[in-house]
Amino acid sequence: MAKRKKIVVITGGAGFLGSHLCDRFIGDGLKVFCVDNLITGSMKNIKHLKNDKNFEFIKHNISQELFIKGPIDYVMHFASPASPVDYLKHPIPTLKVGSLGSHNMLGLAKLKKARYLVASTSEVYGDPEVHPQKETYWGNVNPVGPRGVYDEAKRFAEAITMAYRTYHKVDTKILRIFNTYGPRMRINDGRVVPNFIYQAMHNKSLTIYGTGKQTRSFCYYSDLVEGIVRLLHSNISGPVNIGNPDEFTIMQFAKMVIKMSDTKSKIIYKSLPVDDPKQRKPDITLAKKHLKWTPKVKLEQGLRDTIDWFEENIS
Ligand code: UDP
Repeated sequence: MAKRKKIVVITGGAGFLGSHLCDRFIGDGLKVFCVDNLITGSMKNIKHLKNDKNFEFIKHNISQELFIKGPIDYVMHFASPASPVDYLKHPIPTLKVGSLGSHNMLGLAKLKKARYLVASTSEVYGDPEVHPQKETYWGNVNPVGPRGVYDEAKRFAEAITMAYRTYHKVDTKILRIFNTYGPRMRINDGRVVPNFIYQAMHNKSLTIYGTGKQTRSFCYYSDLVEGIVRLLHSNISGPVNIGNPDEFTIMQFAKMVIKMSDTKSKIIYKSLPVDDPKQRKPDITLAKKHLKWTPKVKLEQGLRDTIDWFEENIS
């Protein structure tokens, strides 16, 4: 009998990262079920896959149960509003997709005996007191602050994943994603990368929140996707940090965007959002050792490609 294609379910498949994962798995010859309720995802991100016979889109909110007929090999749980602006706009759906959505997707993986991979986040470290952040650090999260809806949902998502691993023997992987950027980010998702690029494109002042001394480490989407696929096929369960350890202040980043854009933009200062982490940089020793993974794309290069993409795709 001919070997059948592997089948993967990707929740949040019409989002920024989810859609790049759909591309990767279609390219690798898998059958893809892309599940999204489109609250922050967009059909535009997957329109080029619509006619592929190995691609199926299911519009569904996975905070409710999802039934799919036939075998499934991998469940990749990527659905969630992911930018601070988005999760503040959708606090209850964010909590539900991290908790009920995770429960439903773990149930699906258990039923189908599928491998389960959950997209967790550097936000589980909160405003970290340890720098850089290792997977063994437990974090410094304010559960009742505005970011709590996302951070605690993801922490719950990790906890329920461990419980299904321990008690139901589901084959699970936990991935902690640090700031990632690239084509298909929403121009209005409020994150620093699309904000600054949009502002520079329109000669508006770049809005630095606080002093601009806070740091982030930006990973290009293609590096992240490679890390995700390696984790999926590895024999470690995580949590594993995947991110780029090159750390920049937001001020440095703003200057870089201005330099790389044809713009008259200046910088203005706005107030810092509550509980905004002061510093963030992944320790990627684990990923290097077990996945033989390191990011390849330097910020200048990835930013060039991202600016070009926004200029071609957004007016
Ligand atoms: N930020 C900023 N100006 C903006 C948007 C964001 O200075 O227009 C800052 C924000 O306060 C944070 C950093 O950039 O310190 C990264 O913010 P983002 O929303 O991209 O994601 P976060 O890493 O905070 O989840």
